[in-house]
Amino acid sequence: MKRRAVPFRFAIAIIAFYFLVYGLALSPPPAGLRPRLRRPPQGHPGFRADPHPEPEPLPPEPSPGIPYSQIPALPASLQGVLGQLVRPETREWRSIVVHHSGGASGNAAEFDRMHREVNGWEHGLGYHFVVGNGAGSPAGFVEVGGRWIAQLHGAHAGAKATEYNQHGIGICVVGNYEEVEVHETVYSGLRDLVAWLAKRYSISPARILPHSEVRGEPTDCPGKNFPLDRLRDDVGEALK
Ligand SMILES: [Zn+2]
Repeated sequence: MKRRAVPFRFAIAIIAFYFLVYGLALSPPPAGLRPRLRRPPQGHPGFRADPHPEPEPLPPEPSPGIPYSQIPALPASLQGVLGQLVRPETREWRSIVVHHSGGASGNAAEFDRMHREVNGWEHGLGYHFVVGNGAGSPAGFVEVGGRWIAQLHGAHAGAKATEYNQHGIGICVVGNYEEVEVHETVYSGLRDLVAWLAKRYSISPARILPHSEVRGEPTDCPGKNFPLDRLRDDVGEALK
């Protein structure tokens, strides 16, 4: 029995030698060694041309706003939309662009339908938020748009205003503020929303802009009666 053990051990040694040499040779070389090879083996997985195009660059890093774990407290006026308002940081928000609807009445669903059916926008409502004026939705009530919930770009600042569509939070206040004043209740809802967003995303009052000041098509939006200075002052106070 002992005599047969010698060729058996010899066979094991041969097999082990085979795997040591060919097993290593058949596995892909470490990445750092590849450039040293003079003739890359054709058809080897490690050297095959990648049939996929270069991937698209990653989206911009989220804004350096306050951490997600430290969301500012919501004022009473926004408690009703808590679950829709608080989003994870997946998009960099750098400014807030305010609009008026231009008509006497309306709400998010109505504008959403118009933006889909008339403008042909796949993602519907171009604003991230709509603040009601009592005609179509309650005065000062904040409606959260689908683009905000999905953290999508807006479609509110004009086709040429890429920065403000991509990184501006679009808020539409229902009404025509070229013709009438903003009601106090409507203003309160808007102010609370803008102040919360400014805190959450570290947006300074100077970055609260009327549609008319962002690059794009000329417009009177949000109207000569829109209290922009007051809004900036109030938000500045809230940020202190
Ligand atoms: Zn506008």
